[in-house]
Amino acid sequence: MDEYEYWHPLHETMPRPQIEALQLVKLRAAVGWALTGNGLQAELLRSAGVTPNSLESLADISKIPFLTRDAWMESQCAAPPYGDLLAAPPESAIRHHLTSGTTGRTPIRVLDSMKDWEWIAEMWCYAFWGFGVRPADRVFVAFGYGSFIGFWGAHYACEKIGCLVLPGGSLTTEMRLRQIVELGATVVCSTPTYALRLAQEARRLGIDLPAGPVERIVLSGEPAGSIPATKRLLESEWGAKAADTAGMTELGTIMMFECAAQPGGTHVIEDHFLEEVIDPDTGSPVPYGTLGERVVTSFGRGFIPLLRYRTGDLVTRVPGSDCSCGRTWDIYHGGIHGRVDDMKLVRGTNVYPRAIEAIVREYPVVDEFQVHLYTAEGIRDEIEVLVELTDPGDRKVLPELATELAKATEGLRIDVRAVEPGTLPRFELKARRVRDERTVIGTGAPL
Ligand SMILES: [Zn+2]
Repeated sequence: MDEYEYWHPLHETMPRPQIEALQLVKLRAAVGWALTGNGLQAELLRSAGVTPNSLESLADISKIPFLTRDAWMESQCAAPPYGDLLAAPPESAIRHHLTSGTTGRTPIRVLDSMKDWEWIAEMWCYAFWGFGVRPADRVFVAFGYGSFIGFWGAHYACEKIGCLVLPGGSLTTEMRLRQIVELGATVVCSTPTYALRLAQEARRLGIDLPAGPVERIVLSGEPAGSIPATKRLLESEWGAKAADTAGMTELGTIMMFECAAQPGGTHVIEDHFLEEVIDPDTGSPVPYGTLGERVVTSFGRGFIPLLRYRTGDLVTRVPGSDCSCGRTWDIYHGGIHGRVDDMKLVRGTNVYPRAIEAIVREYPVVDEFQVHLYTAEGIRDEIEVLVELTDPGDRKVLPELATELAKATEGLRIDVRAVEPGTLPRFELKARRVRDERTVIGTGAPL
């Protein structure tokens, strides 16, 4: 039962009323602390007249105005490089990081202190320990170690646990694979997309991953870590168990992780984050089991207060008791389902990239894919899925794949076209598989 042990047994199994009492104490402290400054977060609180004493129950959190990414960006543009968000003097920082910027937006920049990094690593410890990683493990981190925050916290967490950490920065994919095998890595940290790419490269090199040393893969950086078909594919390609985690640069660390019981979702780290799920249009809370937008309040980072931050992530919250591991922390079933702004309107039908990936990954003969949207005849929306096949002889699966895609998108006709191997982009971080080249969006009669 070793793998079902907890990193922090008291907090991870705390009865709900106690978790909520702890959150209320921490929420009041966070509000009081934010109000000692004059930054953006303090301004929002003052504008709404919120003080620690005005929060009598957790429901009173609704008195606190939402903090949005737009407000953060405006502040950063008005007072570069960090905006009016820091709650400590920049001289006391030890590290600068920024968002990956893969979505083409201006990156958010952050600073952290020594104490913050201790906390950042601690949050990742919940995930590694909860997934069964122990001091004897050798952890290979397949990550570029640049200014994007990525797996930095994971690196320090594994040191803290006492693992041997193998930093895989600035290595080619082939060199990474050779190190994984030669150094006997038992755990690999990677994005889901890059873990698949490593598996493809291993096949090309004649490396038999399931026969190799890797027992666990810790995923982060993309929602795909909780898509069942993607995960099944990863687990069979590697002959290892895969667990999802998710974090944000805005928090500096992860706020959810999948435990060793693999409940098909991720536990929220509820002693350090207060997560709400709201209707993105109305801002009102939605009940358990309903898809909504995550709103996060962080209790841990000392450099940046973060209260009710609108993440844009879509999640479905279910009670922690749905998992057999004994944690009382609630679960985001299926992890992060994508983003509020991911959805594409095609000929009047809503298309979610995640739904397409969930179908495509049922076909292991597809090495890589891309969703391509374009305007036909100057007016009509078209959508096609371009696929690279492991073997050109596998083309016979394409009509079936097209049928399955149509079923998953209310009958929308989606063409599936094979392209030459090596023509679609490969990703190490945050894959971007949707190419929207439409000149007119969302028009054209349903076909
Ligand atoms: Zn669990």
